[in-house]
Amino acid sequence: MGFFDDLSKKASETYRNTAEKTNKLTREMKLKSLINEDKGKIEKIYAEIGKKVYEKHIREENIDIKSELIEECSKIDAYAKEIEDMNTEMRALKDLRLCTKCGSEIPLSARFCPKCGSQQEEIKPVETVNNTEVPTEAKEVVEQVNNEVTTETVQEVTNEVNNEINNEENDGTNTETNNENNDNNQ
Ligand SMILES: [Zn+2]
Repeated sequence: MGFFDDLSKKASETYRNTAEKTNKLTREMKLKSLINEDKGKIEKIYAEIGKKVYEKHIREENIDIKSELIEECSKIDAYAKEIEDMNTEMRALKDLRLCTKCGSEIPLSARFCPKCGSQQEEIKPVETVNNTEVPTEAKEVVEQVNNEVTTETVQEVTNEVNNEINNEENDGTNTETNNENNDNNQ
C-alpha cells in the first residue's frame, strides 16, 4: 500500500514539476517574442529620427533634440525600460541574475561570479514565478508617453522660450543703459 502511495505521490510531483517547467518555457517564449517586437519598434523610431535629421541637413538647419526629437526619444525610453523589465523576468525564470560588479549573467545561487570572481550578495529564496502578470503593453506606455509629451513639453518649451526672450530683453536694455552711462561719463 505504502509503495503505491509513494508512487502516486512521486507521479503527481513529477507532473507538477513538468507543468511548472512548461509554464516557464511558455512564458520565456512569450517574453522573447515581446522583446523582439519592442526591439523592432525601437529600430523603426531610430529610422524616423534619422529621417528627421537628414531632412534638416538638406535644408541646412540644425535640429534641437529637446524640442524636435523628444517624442521619439521618450518612446525609445519606454520600450527600453520594458525590455529591461522583461529581461529581468527572463533571468528569474532561468534562475539567473546579474553580477553586481561586471554585469554578467550568473546562476542565482552563485556566491562568487565565475567571470570576475567578485562576491555576490546572498539571495534569500523569493517567489520568482508568481509574477504571471503580462508586462504593460507597449501601446499603452507609448500612448501615455504621447499624452505626457504633448502636454508637458509644449508647456516646457513655451516656458523656455519665454525665459530666453526675457533674458535677451534684459541683457539688451542693460547693455544699452551701460553704454549710455559710459557715454555720459566721457
Ligand atoms: Zn562578475
